[in-house]
Amino acid sequence: MSHAPSPCPICGKPASDAARPFCSPRCKQLDLGRWLGEGYVIPGPPLDAPRADNDDEDRTE
Ligand SMILES: [Zn+2]
Repeated sequence: MSHAPSPCPICGKPASDAARPFCSPRCKQLDLGRWLGEGYVIPGPPLDAPRADNDDEDRTE
C-alpha cells in the first residue's frame, strides 16, 4: 500500500518528496512569492501622484 502523492497546488503535477506539497522547489518558490505578493503592500503615495513643489525633475523620455 502506497499513498498517492497529492498534486502540486501550483501546476498540478505529482508532488515530490523533496519539495512537498509541491512538485519542485521552483513551484515552492512560486507559491511563496504569490503569498508575499498578495499580502505585502508597499505604503506610500502612488508614483503618478502630482508634485506641486518639485516640477523640475529630469525626464528621460
Ligand atoms: Zn509544480
